[in-house]
Amino acid sequence: MSGKNVTEVVAPDAEGIARAVRILESGGLVAIPTETVYGLAARADSADAVAAIYAAKGRPDFNPLIVHVSDLAQAEQLAVFDERARDLADRFWPGPLTLILPLREDAAIAGAVTAGLPTIALRQPAHKAMRAVLEATGFPLAAPSANRSEGISPTRAEHVIASLGAACSLVVDGGASQEGLESSIVALRAGGGWNLLRPGPVTRETLERILGPETESEAIGIEAPGQLARHYSPGKKLRLSAARAEEDEFFIGFGLVQGDCTLSSAGDLNEAAARLYDCMHQAAASPKPRIAVAPIPYGEVGRAINDRLRRAAAD
Ligand code: AMP
Ligand code: MG
Repeated sequence: MSGKNVTEVVAPDAEGIARAVRILESGGLVAIPTETVYGLAARADSADAVAAIYAAKGRPDFNPLIVHVSDLAQAEQLAVFDERARDLADRFWPGPLTLILPLREDAAIAGAVTAGLPTIALRQPAHKAMRAVLEATGFPLAAPSANRSEGISPTRAEHVIASLGAACSLVVDGGASQEGLESSIVALRAGGGWNLLRPGPVTRETLERILGPETESEAIGIEAPGQLARHYSPGKKLRLSAARAEEDEFFIGFGLVQGDCTLSSAGDLNEAAARLYDCMHQAAASPKPRIAVAPIPYGEVGRAINDRLRRAAAD
């Protein structure tokens, strides 16, 4: 494995998981499937391992990482949980909800993980492969999306290799990610308020039913680059809400509007979310110099899909 300039791909079986675990234990990077997107994982308690994530992605150091945990008990060693936080973890973990909570002073976490913030982003992922790795290592894993910074997120092992190449020496191939969109990120504020920092599979409507109306934003500095205007970039001009495509445009369709790649012929938003990045990767690789995307409704996870498309369209 070492010294070779290729990425090794392993199955998510006992042998593959064991290889991933050995590399992580020694401070290396491994791309691991989750139900949202593939994560580029490293042990969160090692400054060197975390530095390697930032270097492999070309990620700016002010942009903190989500820490993945095996269970609530491990999460509570890292952050201060109040009743609301425990309730959300109870309802949605394991699953695609990330909580921003006060960082515990005694948390064994490299400083770069939180980019110096007094808070930490935590999630217990649901994917079998990621859970197996977390349970075997016993330490939490920092794991941003396994792509170069600003690029399209990976929902397949091939996407990881296309974006990171040999910067990541091992990919656990778990097939296509089921949700296909990054986790919803919720910051619980000390005064009882909350903010949705990144829309995702757990919708604002669902969160408002539990937490009450979202309070005015209390952003402290850069909180989520999912919040940066430009992100998820296909490297081409992208036109939104297009009824049809021009000759030189790769067309991403939805529902009755068929494209070169169609997010969901049935008009199913969950299917569209799961296929979004795969279609974006196809559009990026196509010889067509521009991209057009059919209108996507805003209901439920449609809001998160439109959020990603808007940032992909920004220049
Ligand atoms: P990525 O891992 O690339 O999907 O991005 C992780 C997201 O989590 C980014 O939007 C970060 O800004 C956000 N994040 C991580 N830690 C924190 C934190 N302590 N406070 C606010 N946002 C955070
Ligand atoms: Mg990302």
